[in-house]
Amino acid sequence: MKKLKDFKNKTSNNSNAKKARDGSSWFLIIFGALFIAMIGRVFVSGGEMPNMPNIGATNTTKPIELSFSDVLRRAPEIKTMKINGNDATGTLADGTKYNATITYDPEMLSKLSDAGTAITIDTSKGIFESIATFAPLALTLLFIFWILRGFRRGGAAGGIGRSLIGQNPTKIATGKPKTTFKDVAGIDSEKQELSEIVDFLKNKDKYKALGARVPRGVLLSGQPGTGKTLLARAIAGEANVPFFAASGSDFSGIIVGLGVAKIKEIFEMAKRNAPCILFIDEIDAIGQKRSTHSYNDQDREQTLNQLLIEMDGFANDTGIIVIGATNRVDMLDAALLRPGRFDRQVYIELPDLSGRREILDLYAKKVKIGETVNLHDLARGTTGFSGADLENLLNEAALHAVRNGRTEISSDDIEEARDKIIMGPRKIRKMRPEDIKLTAYHEAGHAFVSLMYADITDPIHKATIIPRGRALGMVQHLPIDDKVSMTLAEVRANLSIALAGRSAEEIFFGDDKITTGAESDIAMATRLARYSITTAGLSKRVGLPAINQVGTFGTRGALENASEKTAELVDAEIKAWLDAAHADAIKHLTKNKKTVEKLANELLTRETLTGEEIREIVFGKSESATTEKKPKTQKKKIKKTTNATKTTKQ
Ligand code: ADP
Ligand code: ZN
Repeated sequence: MKKLKDFKNKTSNNSNAKKARDGSSWFLIIFGALFIAMIGRVFVSGGEMPNMPNIGATNTTKPIELSFSDVLRRAPEIKTMKINGNDATGTLADGTKYNATITYDPEMLSKLSDAGTAITIDTSKGIFESIATFAPLALTLLFIFWILRGFRRGGAAGGIGRSLIGQNPTKIATGKPKTTFKDVAGIDSEKQELSEIVDFLKNKDKYKALGARVPRGVLLSGQPGTGKTLLARAIAGEANVPFFAASGSDFSGIIVGLGVAKIKEIFEMAKRNAPCILFIDEIDAIGQKRSTHSYNDQDREQTLNQLLIEMDGFANDTGIIVIGATNRVDMLDAALLRPGRFDRQVYIELPDLSGRREILDLYAKKVKIGETVNLHDLARGTTGFSGADLENLLNEAALHAVRNGRTEISSDDIEEARDKIIMGPRKIRKMRPEDIKLTAYHEAGHAFVSLMYADITDPIHKATIIPRGRALGMVQHLPIDDKVSMTLAEVRANLSIALAGRSAEEIFFGDDKITTGAESDIAMATRLARYSITTAGLSKRVGLPAINQVGTFGTRGALENASEKTAELVDAEIKAWLDAAHADAIKHLTKNKKTVEKLANELLTRETLTGEEIREIVFGKSESATTEKKPKTQKKKIKKTTNATKTTKQ
């Protein structure tokens, strides 16, 4: 998410920043000179020093006399200054020469650096020594001053604050983006909502004539990678106005006052370029609820206040639309969401099935996709993927294709990329042969029992014994549609499927050979049972009362709204459900031992079997049973059922 593209600030309005850079480079030169002087003293101990370049001006007309306070007051006029001890000479902007008596005062140095004065330090030995003497002190003073300045002036005018802004124009990305709504797929209703903003930017006067109040701020919220930045750019692109982007995290840092300065700076820039879009990514970094009182928070509060001031400060018809993006709306200070600020909120959800399909179609156009790839199936198998994930998936697939010497993306590349994103990269690990064998039976167990419930659960997509991430193998199911809810029968079927791996281990290897590998299956089953019983009211014995859980994945957790007796009942009921599911899996697997064995052996030789291949092995080619004991449930018309790609790991 949110990589602000590193294109440089191309507007003509960066002279400020440039000036700041010049100012601060002088600062650095002075700093450097003092430092060298100090080092010189330490290492050369007063020996002959090389001459430093003299860039001071010399002139011979009669100079005027300036006191130290004159120097401070007239600093902006001073063009050059040559310093020799406490004496300074040089010229003013109008060419007048001057003599002055000065001290090494940080304020003077900074004023001069602000004015862009060319300062020369006379390099005669005497002066060098005198500088060297108090260089350490001056350095320290200068540094403290430099930092405090940012604080005192809100950083707006200088110090590190300013120089940082000056040196990081990349942080404020600008330009009229070419991105349009066409580049954003799968979130039509959001585009619809935001097209009003585009219209406003295009026809400012129409709205003005009507007296309509247009939003100043739009808050885009949603998970990372859902296209918030993309959408903001597209708005600017559609309206053909400049796009300024900054990130909330740029506004906080160790330098106090930097945030305030940067806020001022970006709003300045926006005002000069209106109509335009000012995009602030990760706005939660500055817009968090004001509560705590640590030093850091005070600074952030100042930054937030400045943001509020700026947003209140520009007239409604200026044509600046501030777009903020966050994935933590709940953390934002309420003040940010008041009318006149971010009063328009658009929540961008993770794309649904059709949204994913549209996004895949969009990016599929940019790569070469082979005939074996079915984008609709891919959309089905990528529940929970963001737009960025989908783009990444196709890119990974393309890379995989290239690595394997293909000229177009095959379904293998897609599978590999998807698994890599879901499960982490393929583990190259030596497994003991007996472990591989056990894994094959375990996965065969899952796969077989899945087929027993094919009419009410998600169709099986593939089974594999290739280890990936923490899993030794897995069986994946592909939902037909996005999740709605589950029937009680579906819950029970899924419990059986989940426990079928362990059940197969028991049947084929014996009770004392079972492994810890079923850990995540058991956790998942327990969680599903607990949810069904305590939250969804699916248990007759426990009944309808919702007993909220405070507990983590698979653990008992404290039962709220439950007496000790109810808690015991819940525990007993969960155990009963799991026992029943376990017995059910054992029953199916024992009845069809030969088929399961065949399935396991196929997995051992081929490592990965597709859903189709598994059905063939179990039901035979014609999809009518040929195996010994014909499984009761044939592959029937598959009903629309539940959710997400369920992955039953080892
Ligand atoms: P966010 O700002 O929400 O974190 P981004 O806008 O930075 O997400 O999304 C990152 C990238 O993912 C985009 O540049 C784009 O390539 C891709 N992307 C995300 N959502 C979509 C979408 N709906 N349509 C097309 N591309 C998308
Ligand atoms: Zn398992």
